[in-house]
Amino acid sequence: MFKKVLIANRGEIALRILRAARELGVRTVVVHSKADADSLPVLLADEAICIGPASPQQSYLNIPNILSAAIISGADAIHPGYGFLAENAQFAEMTAEHGITFIGPTPENMRMLGDKATARRIAREAGVPIVPGTDALESVEEALAAASEIGYPVILKASAGGGGRGMRVVHNPEDLENAVLQAQEEARAAFGNPEIYLEKYVEEPKHVEVQVLGDGERVVHLWERDCSIQRRHQKLLEEAPSILPDEVREGLVSAAVKLAEHIGYTSAGTLEFLVDREGHYYFIEMNTRIQVEHPVTEMITGVDLVAEQFRIAAGEGLRLRQEEIEARGHAIEVRINAEDPDRNFRPSIGKIETLLWPGGNGVRIDSHVYTGYAIPSQYDSLIGKVIVWGADREEAIRRMKRALAETVVDGPGLKTTVPFHKKVLDNAFFRRGAIYTNFIARRMSE
Ligand code: ADP
Repeated sequence: MFKKVLIANRGEIALRILRAARELGVRTVVVHSKADADSLPVLLADEAICIGPASPQQSYLNIPNILSAAIISGADAIHPGYGFLAENAQFAEMTAEHGITFIGPTPENMRMLGDKATARRIAREAGVPIVPGTDALESVEEALAAASEIGYPVILKASAGGGGRGMRVVHNPEDLENAVLQAQEEARAAFGNPEIYLEKYVEEPKHVEVQVLGDGERVVHLWERDCSIQRRHQKLLEEAPSILPDEVREGLVSAAVKLAEHIGYTSAGTLEFLVDREGHYYFIEMNTRIQVEHPVTEMITGVDLVAEQFRIAAGEGLRLRQEEIEARGHAIEVRINAEDPDRNFRPSIGKIETLLWPGGNGVRIDSHVYTGYAIPSQYDSLIGKVIVWGADREEAIRRMKRALAETVVDGPGLKTTVPFHKKVLDNAFFRRGAIYTNFIARRMSE
């Protein structure tokens, strides 16, 4: 096992990684921006190193400063968390060049799957169903021909896209040309790469994703999560298992393993699928990192995914056999964002004056905030995650309602998504599992 890990991230995921490291007996170096100097992971770390000002470009994305911090502190591994540099193949390569282990997939894995159009091609090669659509588009004419063949509506997506950005739904041929030009321009501006492709727009799908772990030789799955509760393609509530017939679930998890094995995947990864009303599933992309919603999988399987990432990176291989990975009960996670759900989820930052997280049987909190903590404005608005486990979905829902009723995150002008989640949990469609990616738009906007 490693002696010292540098955590190249912030917020709740930095703390999550720190906790796994500590349980494994690995010392921790937390790098941080000036704006995060008093965040919890920094206060709890064995060593903390400031790597730049608040702007992510100058701190959490600043490769020379992060590598220098790793070298100076004598870290033998770097965990990138999610976001920032987590899916940057060049960073992984440079880490290795300095004799430091990158806790994550190989740069080749990341390159193959980081580009969504390439990932579609690989899925096709592996015999995994993808949404009908194109490779990278060469021209507007090609887009028109493809769309008329697969039928409207279609969705244009940036090959380099992520985080729910760079997508555009087109309902009729008259709008396609303009949409293609705009999407290319947006992709260039947002991701530095104008390449886009086109897919059939699946109406009212479920978003179901499969968690895998691989060691380059063997891949196991840890079942699936339903992440259909989304606003503008951003997840807000996740649960495991999904509400699907067993044969669909079996098909999904084996397709995921097949694709991950096809590329000799290493570390934790997630294969995202859309499932339509008939139970057909289509691969959309793979995330080559630990994800925000990984705790729901940990709750139903009892596997510490971050610890497994450490063990695999340290060369201990995959310890788990597929038959040992059982899914027990039901878990739900809600994302507590500093956003005002009554004002279009606009960011609502401020100082936390009163903080009370819930507790009790079956409740887990992953959060880096504390009473007196001032939420910085430069980063995403996630301030914590409440995760519950129940023997079945009904018990998990009741437990989450109980947990949120105990939760207090208060400060001058501060608003959070807690009241929104309470409404979701009481929604009749949610209660009976009728959840699709348009749930919030269709069922929550009265
Ligand atoms: P990102 O990498 O930006 O998260 P994804 O490709 O994972 O983008 O898609 C995010 C969400 O967008 C999906 O969960 C789904 O809600 C919606 N979406 C993506 N592709 C399609 C499609 N072909 N049809 C319908 N919805 C889609």
